[in-house]
Amino acid sequence: MNAKLIDGKLEAAKLRNELSLQVADFKREQGYVPTLVVVLVGDDPASQVYVRNKVKQTQEVGMNSLEHRLPASISQAELVGLVRKLNADKNVHGILVQLPLPKGLDSDAVIREISPDKDVDGLTELNAGRLSTGAFGADHGLVACTPLGSLKLIHSVKPDISGLEAVVIGRSNLFGKPMAQLLLQQNCTVTVAHSRTSNLANVCRRADILIAAVGRAELVKADWVKSGAIVIDVGINRVMIGEKAKLVGDVDFKGVSEVAGALSPVPGGVGPMTIAFLLRNTLEAARLGLNQ
Ligand code: NAP
Repeated sequence: MNAKLIDGKLEAAKLRNELSLQVADFKREQGYVPTLVVVLVGDDPASQVYVRNKVKQTQEVGMNSLEHRLPASISQAELVGLVRKLNADKNVHGILVQLPLPKGLDSDAVIREISPDKDVDGLTELNAGRLSTGAFGADHGLVACTPLGSLKLIHSVKPDISGLEAVVIGRSNLFGKPMAQLLLQQNCTVTVAHSRTSNLANVCRRADILIAAVGRAELVKADWVKSGAIVIDVGINRVMIGEKAKLVGDVDFKGVSEVAGALSPVPGGVGPMTIAFLLRNTLEAARLGLNQ
């Protein structure tokens, strides 16, 4: 393996340590700790694991975490009613509705209901718009956690990325679009590729920074990658190796690690960073609440 391994667990642990101190300061100054509410609808096993980890880590940095577990049979109106109740509750600082929602529920409509100042996933139209118009920062809005985590991983190997060519594969609201905006703010030249991109391999080969968020196991091959590039693998894919299930990313780790300059693994790369930035956003949301 030639590439430097980008250690998301280590970077996330550093961020959580800093957050623990900041939460303690917040508590000393305000007399209470920030509270995150996670809403989990249905019984998707992967979502249950994510929510369990989010709740546990929120508590470990000293914040409150409450869970609302709802049956998949809940109506859209009931779910929206809960979000509105949480918006109005002064003791709730961050609201996270775990996605995907079960069939029959309109996640866009639910997200639209979340108060932008409590939108710790950065998914509301106001927060997405603030990011794309450049008004980015603690006083302005909340930014999606996985792109923030990915940028932090890139900075851990190269603090100044101004002028570099960045290619993001995937154009979702959750990841691809906010990632592209963050890279633009860093003065990268950004290309966003997707399922209709012609000759994806050629597009990827020009990237100094290549980020894959597709959901296709090991799509990105070694000959798609420029020598020395920074490669961030966001994908989470469950594949069966014989009888055993295994998690792999969107990047062919073994092949690409011979070509890339730095590479984030799956698991242990972007995943831990997403949760760490959720915690950071919860603290930011509590600070935003102080101004109201
Ligand atoms: P998504 O909404 O399904 O978007 C996937 C994107 O990939 C779409 O833009 C799609 O293009 C594009 N795409 C699909 N097949 C393609 C192909 N063959 N070539 C090029 N582009 C292709 O997924 P997402 O929510 O962004 O998530 C992407 C992956 O990241 C998933 O594996 C997800 O589990 C993972 N993820 C991980 C974390 C984490 O914390 N580690 C967080 C979020 C997501 P079109 O727009 O043209 O359909």
